[in-house]
Amino acid sequence: MKERYAVAIDGPAGAGKSSLAKAAARELGILYVDTGAIYRTVACYMLDHGAEEPAAVETLLPQVQIGLRHGEDGLQRMALNGEDVTERIRLPEVSMAASRVSAIPAVRQFLLEMQRRLAREQSVIMDGRDIGTVVLPAADVKIFLTASPEERARRRWRELEERGTPQPYEAVLAEVERRDKSDRERPIAPLRPAEDAILLDTTALDYAQSLQRLLEIVRGGL
Ligand code: C5P
Repeated sequence: MKERYAVAIDGPAGAGKSSLAKAAARELGILYVDTGAIYRTVACYMLDHGAEEPAAVETLLPQVQIGLRHGEDGLQRMALNGEDVTERIRLPEVSMAASRVSAIPAVRQFLLEMQRRLAREQSVIMDGRDIGTVVLPAADVKIFLTASPEERARRRWRELEERGTPQPYEAVLAEVERRDKSDRERPIAPLRPAEDAILLDTTALDYAQSLQRLLEIVRGGL
């Protein structure tokens, strides 16, 4: 196995990227980087300042200071201008706002170097939408993780229930589909598998099976 390596995991909302990538990183003893959390942090700032239009978002960007640190437990904590927003970024309104701000080229450019730096400093598993295609095109292993929209919505619904913030299933499914559409159809860094990505469809797999398959792919690619 290489001394320093990068694993890119991309895929649509609710495919299980973060829970699987986090578990795989723990198993491999490397850092897990959740790039969606970074976009979500930018989105919080824009929500707080009522900035929706690309020009307004771009004007405010230089005021955004993102803090990212990993606790002992591997949990990635996010700070926005010094304030911890780790829990807040998971609110549904932040998901949709993240999808909106992430379609703005200046936002993607603003975050690109930060993501690349993390992968230069240590071995990483990084998940997002454009990691294999744009952020780390030379990643050692690229995986495109997916599942049917209904299955992804079911998982997200269960997660929200467990977190004590339940939402009707239909609403969760509609949100998943809306976000997929906006992430796939945006002109810049759209969600799509890199040409050399390995497809992992977890619709019919449970969590343990998905993790096992993911680790097989990673180990097989190093
Ligand atoms: O992965 P997560 O659902 O937390 O990401 C929130 C939103 O951030 C996504 O819907 C997507 O629009 C955006 N995103 C992105 N590129 C990434 C990671 C996330 O555009 N690498």
